Amino acid sequence: MRCSVLGAARSGIAVAKLLREKGAAVFVSDQRPLDQLDEEALSLRSLGIELEGGGHSDRVLDCSLLVLSPGVPGDIPFVQEAGRRGIRVLSELEVASWFCRSPIVAVTGSNGKTTTTTLIGRILGDAKKKHVVAGNIGTAFSAVVLDMAEEDIVVLEVSSFQLDHCETFRPKVSVILNVTEDHMDRYRHSMELYAASKARIFMNQSGDDTFVYCADDPWTIRIAAQAACRRLPFSTDTILQEGAWMEHGILMLGDQNGPKQVIPLEQMTIRGIHNARNAMAAVLVGSLFDVSIASMRATLRNFKGVEHRLEFVREHNGIRYYNDSKATNVDAVRYAIQAFSDPIILILGGRDKGNDYTLIQDLVRKHVKSILAIGESAQKVETAFHGIVPVHRASSMEGAVRLAAQEGRAGDVVLLSPACASFDWFKNYEHRGKVFKDLVNHL
Ligand code: ADP
Repeated sequence: MRCSVLGAARSGIAVAKLLREKGAAVFVSDQRPLDQLDEEALSLRSLGIELEGGGHSDRVLDCSLLVLSPGVPGDIPFVQEAGRRGIRVLSELEVASWFCRSPIVAVTGSNGKTTTTTLIGRILGDAKKKHVVAGNIGTAFSAVVLDMAEEDIVVLEVSSFQLDHCETFRPKVSVILNVTEDHMDRYRHSMELYAASKARIFMNQSGDDTFVYCADDPWTIRIAAQAACRRLPFSTDTILQEGAWMEHGILMLGDQNGPKQVIPLEQMTIRGIHNARNAMAAVLVGSLFDVSIASMRATLRNFKGVEHRLEFVREHNGIRYYNDSKATNVDAVRYAIQAFSDPIILILGGRDKGNDYTLIQDLVRKHVKSILAIGESAQKVETAFHGIVPVHRASSMEGAVRLAAQEGRAGDVVLLSPACASFDWFKNYEHRGKVFKDLVNHL
């Protein structure tokens, strides 16, 4: 088979190698000039894989299968042309899944994917269940799929872009954490399109497959009705019979054998209602793989969360500093604000993806003392919160941290939760978080 791969980053490289190993003739194409590609991409040639840089030539379309890396939008003219020519256009996730003999747990949602995927991995690991964590989260699925044994469990973090180009992908357990506004620029500002993309995670599930979902989220409930397999809800707002829920501050799990207590929320290290939901999803997955409640309780007590997600940095002069650099949309900020009862000085702004700040205006009025606006969208932030709380502009992260330290009083929380992408001032959100943490640690 002749296959072309668009995008020579982590997933593209991995899927190209996988296809080559399985005997395909593979051609890889990237927008970036060859001298900007890393060693691993260039080394594809030594495996007999052809590589072009600096844009996509027509040569790419000389194939019967075109595989998209998650970073390549499916609606660019080039991909549309492939479709017109009758070329199958699939995602790396779909292709990797063809070669997978292990049960798949796939986690998606607008927010919480990395946290929940990581936690599921810990739950399985602490219970000595053989497993692999992959997908959007570090290691591409294609890079590990051939090394896995049938009894391994593979836990995948899955984005909507990967689901968009799946056909036969069928997880044993799928999870949708929430569907809230994000990537509106890529879904033509339509929540319907975006939610439909998320729903593809369960489109091939049936029989004894399971779909785990959040019953507190309107869009998730709406699409859950379409799932043809067993459905397991979780909720922090409603007491359920089957699934996971909160009762008197205790995370509960229930099935045909009745309800069981898992852990009081206050004994978990990760904080906030959103993390209670992530924990519920993870515990439901653990129970589907027969992990004992005692084991899951111990994991939840120890799990400190993932770097850059509502991460405690330091207390200085009685002010606590938190790094939530991964909050790249408004909903993540909503949950970050709700996780604290003390007054918040909020560092907000960056590269805007079409944010609607009216969604958090009330919450900001109640919990936020002042906003420090940063990045390209500082003006938009200023306009959105004018008359609600004082907004000051900072022309650098250093300036923002300095202002926060000056303005803060003992008992306050300084929270970097920017609601925006980072690419205006930083390489990525990790870089933004590290810069923030360094500045805070040097105060
Ligand atoms: P993702 O991988 O989906 O981006 P992360 O676990 O990396 O999710 O978290 C991204 C941001 O969303 C962080 O700011 C985090 O605090 C916040 N968050 C985590 N879980 C949830 C949730 N269930 N609902 C809303 N926000 C969440």
